[in-house]
Amino acid sequence: MKILVLSDIHANADALAAVLDDAGEYGEIWSLGDVVGYGAEPARTIELLFSGDRTIRSVAGNHDLGVLGRLSLSGFIPEGRQAIEWTQPRLDESDLARLDSPSELTIGTDASLWHGGPINPVWGYVNSPEKAQAAFSCPWVGFGFVGHTHQPRAYFQSSNYEATEGLSPRPGWRFGAGTFGERALLNPGSVGQPRDGDPRAAYLLCDLDAGWFEWRRTRYDIKRSQQKIKAAGLPETLADRLGFGL
Ligand code: ZN
Repeated sequence: MKILVLSDIHANADALAAVLDDAGEYGEIWSLGDVVGYGAEPARTIELLFSGDRTIRSVAGNHDLGVLGRLSLSGFIPEGRQAIEWTQPRLDESDLARLDSPSELTIGTDASLWHGGPINPVWGYVNSPEKAQAAFSCPWVGFGFVGHTHQPRAYFQSSNYEATEGLSPRPGWRFGAGTFGERALLNPGSVGQPRDGDPRAAYLLCDLDAGWFEWRRTRYDIKRSQQKIKAAGLPETLADRLGFGL
């Protein structure tokens, strides 16, 4: 079964719509959190993601938990805090119920999902081979899927499990699961606020039965998302950074 793996949509509904359009056929969506926060269309984003009869499995990110009132906002940067406080009154009970996900999810023996990683599911950053090595020493099942860094990455271990390597997959690269050995930590990048210098929306398609992973990018109307952020009165830096992918 083909799976569409998404993370860090950040209330950028136009970016999400472009990804859903570009991804083609898939059996399930796995969402790695931060569905909302930063962007100007939280309700439309939730509607786009959770509507329809497809299966969606999701974990909550720090921004989702902030909006749900489960995390102190003191841990967020000022723009993040401001966006969360802006988002809260714009979601109704059913939006919040859809946003309410666990912070870790195991899918059979195939996969483990977190926003951050196995050591700290919500706030942890798996953003270096050293941090990935520490994450590999935790017990978890199958391939690990993480978000939070907003950068597409794959971390995997050497055949003797002593070293961990990381790579930044280029758009359109498809890897056989054998490339990564038995365990890997895979980050699809961010749909709605990429931070790797490429402003296009990032996502991952994979098929665990067939054994492949493909990182992809798609263009969307960035100017429109920027205008919506400015019109909403959210911090202008949140609009500007979308243009740079930083
Ligand atoms: Zn995020």
